[in-house]
Amino acid sequence: MNKFIGRLFIEGDIRLLTGLHIGGSRETVEIGGLDNPVIKTIEGIPYIPGSSLKGKIRCLLERARNINPKEGEPCGCGKCEVCLLFGSHNDKTKTLSRVIIRDSFLDQEDFKNNFGKYFDRDIEYTEEKTENIIDRIAGTARYPRTMERVPAGAKFKFSSSIAFYEGDDVEKLVKTFVEGMRMLEDDYLGGSGTRGYGHIKFENLSFYVKPYESYYKDNQRKEIGKSVALTDKDIVEELVKELKEVLKK
Ligand SMILES: [Zn+2]
Repeated sequence: MNKFIGRLFIEGDIRLLTGLHIGGSRETVEIGGLDNPVIKTIEGIPYIPGSSLKGKIRCLLERARNINPKEGEPCGCGKCEVCLLFGSHNDKTKTLSRVIIRDSFLDQEDFKNNFGKYFDRDIEYTEEKTENIIDRIAGTARYPRTMERVPAGAKFKFSSSIAFYEGDDVEKLVKTFVEGMRMLEDDYLGGSGTRGYGHIKFENLSFYVKPYESYYKDNQRKEIGKSVALTDKDIVEELVKELKEVLKK
């Protein structure tokens, strides 16, 4: 791998437009709890694992490009833009992941302001949704199950970055990642997406760049985009222009 030249940070909010269910471990749930709990921090607050975001964005990008090396497995070629961003699957010697997506934690203040009135005692962070499968012959509901989900309207703090190395096609990498974020907005995160769950939107995105010199000088990053929405038309072109300026120095 070539010399490290700097890093682009993409930070902002993930707003839930519909309820979100990212499954947690059932073992951690007390007896009498829900059938299908969501993943939570040790304090019992739901969060979005970075791995869920990364996996979904990668998958959407590969599907769009018809990259399908082995049935169901991520690409491992080490050369395509998806591998360059997310790393070559099962063969780390080809290329490392340039993208880091942190866990996205719930904005608790925002949650209390929006939902505090619905919870009488201590604040809770999820709703229960009972679902049925309709028996085609009898026309009645059977197998009711309870899904736990984070309610629509909740907000999570999103934090990601892309590392760049000498010789990288900066424009292509940024464009591809933003394309994946845009596709995620029209797809879904977590489980039961085709039944309405997991519709999300990125809001208030900020972009910062930190060239390599910063790490041994002032350790500062430069803001190159603020309050950006992915629907803004020319964001990528403008960002890339500034990004290249800073990385060139
Ligand atoms: Zn590949």
